[in-house]
Amino acid sequence: MTITQRISLIVGRALRTLLGLALLTTANLVAAENIAVHAGWLFDSETGRLLEKRTVHVVDGKVESVERGYTQRAGERVIDLTAFSVLPGLMDMHTHLAYEFGPRTYTEAFTWNPADYTLRAVDTAKRTLMAGFTTVRDLGDSDNVTVSLRNAINRGDIVGPRVYTAGKSIATTGGHADPTNGHRHDLMGSPGPAEGVINGSASAREAVRQRYKDGADLIKITATGGVLSVAKSGQNPQFMQDEVEAIVQTAKDYGFTVAVHAHGKEGMERAIRAGVDSIEHGTYMDDKTMALMVDHGTWYVPTLLAGDWVTQKSAIDGFFPEMVRTKAAKIGPLIQDTFQRAHKKGVKIAFGTDTGVSRHGENAKEFALMVQGGMSPADAIRSATWNAAQLLNAQDELGSIAPGKQADLVAVIGNPLEDISTLERVRFVMKGGVVYKQPE
Ligand SMILES: [Zn+2]
Repeated sequence: MTITQRISLIVGRALRTLLGLALLTTANLVAAENIAVHAGWLFDSETGRLLEKRTVHVVDGKVESVERGYTQRAGERVIDLTAFSVLPGLMDMHTHLAYEFGPRTYTEAFTWNPADYTLRAVDTAKRTLMAGFTTVRDLGDSDNVTVSLRNAINRGDIVGPRVYTAGKSIATTGGHADPTNGHRHDLMGSPGPAEGVINGSASAREAVRQRYKDGADLIKITATGGVLSVAKSGQNPQFMQDEVEAIVQTAKDYGFTVAVHAHGKEGMERAIRAGVDSIEHGTYMDDKTMALMVDHGTWYVPTLLAGDWVTQKSAIDGFFPEMVRTKAAKIGPLIQDTFQRAHKKGVKIAFGTDTGVSRHGENAKEFALMVQGGMSPADAIRSATWNAAQLLNAQDELGSIAPGKQADLVAVIGNPLEDISTLERVRFVMKGGVVYKQPE
């Protein structure tokens, strides 16, 4: 290397460092600055109404007040969204940021290192935020990838949504989230509670406590078979009553909520009786199950997008292993109807897509499926804001644009109550008072 090359390398490095610092400083300044957002229309997620001409005053990353008309205080920067509908940041209660499903997924289990999943998650987290989802639950990873992801986002090192993660899902031996399903015998081994496989109430407690130690925010269990695991049944119960009770009781000690993957009715009902917080997918629930959910105040997270996606892919030869394809073709098409019935029966519904099955950043496609299933656009948006915040026990911080809450705002062109697909084209994203995306 010549001296000139060496000097240009050093100068280049110094410039990059300076630029990096400048960007960081800007981000911090943006977070600290006072902002007046002028919204053409503002979605009130408490009532489901769209209010005309409102100003959202943002101080220190939080909503300070919401006023009628367009106002500006001394020292405030105005963000002009007078041509837009402004909504609370969208919230997806079922994602897998470390995964993005494809025909290679099953071999990745043998060839990818934790770092590979982590680097993918850096990308999927950014796509999620840019699509307008400012908060997600991550319902299952491996090697605590999404715990580290959440921490890096919170430190401001990388860009992504607020992440509430379950870490590794908890299953029973051979159950839906047993990480060695379908492996060769000598590679199967016998994973234990640390890897999320339990048998009996003592190891159930150990697995929950391990998630606490790992830094998870909630617990996820797979109470019945599932579609994408290489295992025969997509719906059999996989936790005994005492096991799911041990999970729920231990989770309560640590302030964890419990999210439950379930397709089959029996496994679902055991979980509901044990007092879990949400049922994910819920494919085979019937009137009795729904009544039980209403009684217990259990949330339903439908994941219609995943049902739609596996149905489509099951038609492609060789996309899934044959064992998975059979389940995908059978279970996938049923979820839309389950959703329609559950909505009519008054089961509480929170928005969730199971993205990571389908492509990250396309989460908002779930809205159109919900509306097709008979839910009003206003209620569909409420499920992804007001309701989701309740499921997270974060209603004081998230879920609406109201004084004291995080300044998480997104904006779209047009009226989302007339055309729900506008949410698939989010043009402005603010999280915690920091602007991540603006209209060109
Ligand atoms: Zn899932």
